[in-house]
Amino acid sequence: MTVRTRIAPSPTGDPHVGTAYIALFNMAFAKKHGGQFVLRIEDTDQVRSTTESEQSILDSLNWLGLQWDEGPDVGGEYGPYRQSERSDIYAKYIQQLLDEGNAFYCFATPEELDEMRKQQMANGETPKYDGRGLLLSESEIKQKLDAGVPHVVRMKIPEQGVCTFDDLLRGTIEIDWTQIDMQVLMKADGLPTYHLANVVDDHLMAITHVIRGEEWINSAPKHQLLYKYLGWDMPVLCHMPLLRNPDKSKLSKRKNPTSINYYERMGFLPEAVVNYLGRMGWSMPDEREKFSVSEMIEVFDIERVSLGGPVFDVDKLSWLNGLWIREDLSIDDLAKRFTTWAVNESYLGKVLPLIQKRINVLSDAAPLASFFLEGMPSVTVESFEYKKLDVEQVRKILQFSLWRLEAQREWTLDNIQLDLFALSESLEIKMRDFMIPVFVAVSGKQSAPSIMDAMEILGPDMTRARLRAGLNVVGGPSKKEMKRLEKEFRNL
Ligand code: GLU
Repeated sequence: MTVRTRIAPSPTGDPHVGTAYIALFNMAFAKKHGGQFVLRIEDTDQVRSTTESEQSILDSLNWLGLQWDEGPDVGGEYGPYRQSERSDIYAKYIQQLLDEGNAFYCFATPEELDEMRKQQMANGETPKYDGRGLLLSESEIKQKLDAGVPHVVRMKIPEQGVCTFDDLLRGTIEIDWTQIDMQVLMKADGLPTYHLANVVDDHLMAITHVIRGEEWINSAPKHQLLYKYLGWDMPVLCHMPLLRNPDKSKLSKRKNPTSINYYERMGFLPEAVVNYLGRMGWSMPDEREKFSVSEMIEVFDIERVSLGGPVFDVDKLSWLNGLWIREDLSIDDLAKRFTTWAVNESYLGKVLPLIQKRINVLSDAAPLASFFLEGMPSVTVESFEYKKLDVEQVRKILQFSLWRLEAQREWTLDNIQLDLFALSESLEIKMRDFMIPVFVAVSGKQSAPSIMDAMEILGPDMTRARLRAGLNVVGGPSKKEMKRLEKEFRNL
């Protein structure tokens, strides 16, 4: 048997460090066993998936040096590797499940289902699909289908008993069938859901080991049942521990930058980031902290993964990055890293138009442009002091700007302007004053060359990280204040 592993990211946002972490372990496992590692794009959610996000996931994984043997960009004999290009394949299996009585049509409207859930909650029950579609007669179903009534297809789930499955790291896991919903397999738009597409593709792509994050454990019973219904063997399952913030909560962008782009922009070395991800729940047999991917692959043993909630600590990563810089790079290499990172014509070409008017000699550029190269500008509470705004307002401006810009999916100058203008208007704070805290958080100063252009150049991850850092400096809202702010923000 040839070992085949995969990662299956959904292109719905920034390239996440969690994706890189799971990719690394899949790649290490496949390579260690002389197998193949596949990258598949799970873009069945047409509303949230974007080609930009897909591209940036591929770029980030490439930057990290993680290489897949098959994927949408490199091809392979099991393609296409993008689910949006595989609709016909899924339709066939949905039909098979229907024909064999393992799936059924459901014509309930979203309003009916809402009502159903409300009733269940009022009765103190956990909301769950009640199987109403199963009560329809064949002729009723035919009539509705002929009349073109919108519908989904759901899978049948045993009414009682326990589902047991094995996990490579966790042993046997048991989940009561009563906890499992009759999952939608085909949405009203005719496209499959994650569960159906994922099972079909893992099977057709001959995946032998599914190594993924522990947040998918609860999906395993549905997947196991689908494999059974379709008469296929299930790959070996292995659920990796979730990455955590230093306070042990689930890694979240509120507490830690989670986008790989941020780490690239900050000037981390890809070798160090991958090395650090390799330390998440895993260790070298000799416990050494610094190692390369090939060294990891050589001795890789997935059974050495420990489930104790690995902490992704940016300070620790910085320390490791320092080791790589000092121990592995000659001065020539280091100089090259700087040029690839930001000291190059392409980046300067974006920055210089903003400062050309304000310089007499070239060296004047350094202080004006330094914040384009910095990580977090060094600011204190005093840096935010401004006669027209009290600290509450500063906090609100930073928090609201952050929320707005976190929701912004298309990072263009126009959109940044629209977002911030709209906020200043709704908060009834003059734009000039409104922008002061933003200037300080993003550039470290109360005035800077066109800050919105700068935000566009710095990119979404660095801009958001700086707003977040600024917010922390001014104290960040308390839990109670946060609730109030959230409400006010929603009502804007
Ligand atoms: N598309 C899922 C994700 O976004 C894949 C989960 C899995 O590996 O099965 O993570």
